[in-house]
Amino acid sequence: ANELSAMMNVPVTDVIDVCMNLGLMVSINQRLDAETMALVADEFGYQVEFISADLQEDIKEEEEDRPEDLVPRPPIVTVMGHVDHGKTSLLDYIRHSNVIAGEAGGITQHIGAYSVEVEDGKRITFLDTPGHEAFTAMRARGAKLTDVAIIVVAADDAVMPQTVEAINHASAAGVPIVFAINKIDKPTADPEKIKGELANMNYLVEDWGGKYQCQEISAKQGLNVDKLLEKVLLEAELQELKANPKRKATGTVIESSLDKGRGYVATVLVQNGTLHQGDIMLAGIYYGHVKAMFNERGQRIQEAGPSTPVQVIGLNGAPQAGDYFNILDSDKEAREIANKREQLVRMQSLKTKKHITLDEIGRRIAIGNFKELNLVVKGDVDGSIEALSDALIKLSTEQVQVNVIHKAVGQISESDILLAAASNAIVIGFQVRPSAGARKLAEKEEIDIRLYSIIYDAINEIKDAIEGMLAPEI
Ligand code: GDP
Repeated sequence: ANELSAMMNVPVTDVIDVCMNLGLMVSINQRLDAETMALVADEFGYQVEFISADLQEDIKEEEEDRPEDLVPRPPIVTVMGHVDHGKTSLLDYIRHSNVIAGEAGGITQHIGAYSVEVEDGKRITFLDTPGHEAFTAMRARGAKLTDVAIIVVAADDAVMPQTVEAINHASAAGVPIVFAINKIDKPTADPEKIKGELANMNYLVEDWGGKYQCQEISAKQGLNVDKLLEKVLLEAELQELKANPKRKATGTVIESSLDKGRGYVATVLVQNGTLHQGDIMLAGIYYGHVKAMFNERGQRIQEAGPSTPVQVIGLNGAPQAGDYFNILDSDKEAREIANKREQLVRMQSLKTKKHITLDEIGRRIAIGNFKELNLVVKGDVDGSIEALSDALIKLSTEQVQVNVIHKAVGQISESDILLAAASNAIVIGFQVRPSAGARKLAEKEEIDIRLYSIIYDAINEIKDAIEGMLAPEI
């Protein structure tokens, strides 16, 4: 508050007054979050510019793509589902089978993603880390990578807790789903039962008259995997995915490591533009010339277009999975931004990645920039979770839509916190507590966890928050 008042050249008491009017009790030396600073500054006719380590605000936006430069790009696909239902088997089968004959070289390297040709030149890029945790962890870091999610359900089992999680994580991200009902080679397989269970969750598959594409497969034998991939392509075509190969490359880091012989090696996924050998890359807090590039077949390549995963050698460090990368014009510029970001990362407190808390909702609604309240609801028994979720959704008003993006029986897990971080949600625990890991992660990600033992209390508190009546926590 003090610094802000100095910067604006107004008395600090005025800043505090404005904060109070916004329903915030602050002290002189208190650090204000980014959004409050922006609001307060606005009151005094100033605009706040943040230099942020997470956001890409230090990168100048390039010009809009000209429509004639946009060409279709392959979809990027993630495979999710319950443990042991066959995610890895499916990814392995696709990796090893030459889905179309004649593609040069098998996929020999595990680089975090791979791209395969499916039919008449149409390609699909797979993220090679199965599971919704990886998917949502990336999303929590701001990366938006996946165009289609394949959700694998074993036909000899059932829709399991992690199946539900995977579905909810994909839905919360707005990523279309294709279901793969796996292990149909097993005598005990009962695909219709799985479809029924999905229907009960309001995910009606196509042959049951619904809109969700679904394919029965055996990942182990490779049965119908081609048909599954056709459906994925179909789902992708509906989205008309396009990119501009003529611009400088942008994209996301998928994994990185230090290799004894080669130095730092990062797998990046080019999402727009074309990456060339020799480009000056800035990835997270690291930079360097792209000295060499390799594809998932271990072949050296000179350039990589949209939706292409590629291993890059030449960065001066190992960026984190989920970091964006950009191509800059000069070493100097890359070094300056990288250094600035590193400083910002060191000054942890300048982090602007603040998530919503229940106490903040009323204030945000009052200033009109809060339209949706996302909730993750965990509880001890199914009945009370349903009752609580229904009651919470009914609290929606004209100003605020209440969404329950995930609900399930059980302890509050790290996966719940990741989902909340990625979807700016509050976590509600009814008669359950967070695991130690979840609690730690929630602290780090600044996720608000609210625990209740009486349904009525939960409903009342959310209601008060929406109405801006929640007593501020002192
Ligand atoms: P993940 O945990 O979801 O990655 O599952 P995995 O791919 O590791 O598969 C778990 C087990 O199920 C392994 O023993 C696989 O061999 C087996 N499995 C996977 N797909 C099939 C299938 O289509 N048919 C049969 N019979 N077994 C399968």
